[in-house]
Amino acid sequence: MSAIEDVARRASAILSTRPSGLCSDFDGTLSRIVPSADQAQIEPSIRDALALLARQLDVVAIITGRSVDDVRRRVGLDDLVYIGNHGLERWEGGVHEVDPESLAYVPRLQAITGELANRFSSPAVEVELKTLSLSVHYRRAADPQEVECQLLAALEPLARQHGLRLTRGRMVIELRPPIDRDKGSALADLIERRGLKAVVFLGDDRTDLDAMRRLATLRARGLAQGLSIGVRSEEAPPELPEIADALVDGVDRVAAFLQRLSRLLEG
Ligand SMILES: [Mg+2]
Repeated sequence: MSAIEDVARRASAILSTRPSGLCSDFDGTLSRIVPSADQAQIEPSIRDALALLARQLDVVAIITGRSVDDVRRRVGLDDLVYIGNHGLERWEGGVHEVDPESLAYVPRLQAITGELANRFSSPAVEVELKTLSLSVHYRRAADPQEVECQLLAALEPLARQHGLRLTRGRMVIELRPPIDRDKGSALADLIERRGLKAVVFLGDDRTDLDAMRRLATLRARGLAQGLSIGVRSEEAPPELPEIADALVDGVDRVAAFLQRLSRLLEG
């Protein structure tokens, strides 16, 4: 049996316990990593598979660090749940909810974005304001490690001064409001709201590990069945193979997995 066949059968068996859902990260999982974050596109075969799965399962959700508006535009399917800014905002069926506490940080994030854009005005650094958080990407730097050090030296004092949380991912540093939310609590919230008994989660990066760990905890407590799937890449966090229940090799294999899963669920 191929690796994809094996993972798809395990996922299908778990998802037969209803209500069940499939939740996924976006960048590096459903879209290829590209030089600029603004160029990211969902793979068309993945969009088709998600559209089918949304009809077959009780919920299909995207849980991302991007804003809801941004990721909705890139995925383009209205019957999905979109959880953006690592859980600070949510969109479902035309209703957009934003964590009220996080709104107080918007002016600060705007001011910092302007300041950073002046200080790092090279094309190697991309400052992206996502309304409720901001991302500083350095993928285009000739020496990413050197630029990362410079950025951390600038961002750590700013985070302290403005009372923001600093987190890191694949060639990106983020500043977020100091609200206790991450992809793990976002996933737990979705499971609770929808009464899900089984969940498959896909992700490739450091912030996805929070969701994978949370799913393992819920499973250990007998609260939900779960399978976490890590997407391998050269930039994946070193803990990914140990924390994910299964691994697939890159976005192409995610597409193959989702297509096979949909066919298995069709019976
Ligand atoms: Mg990702």
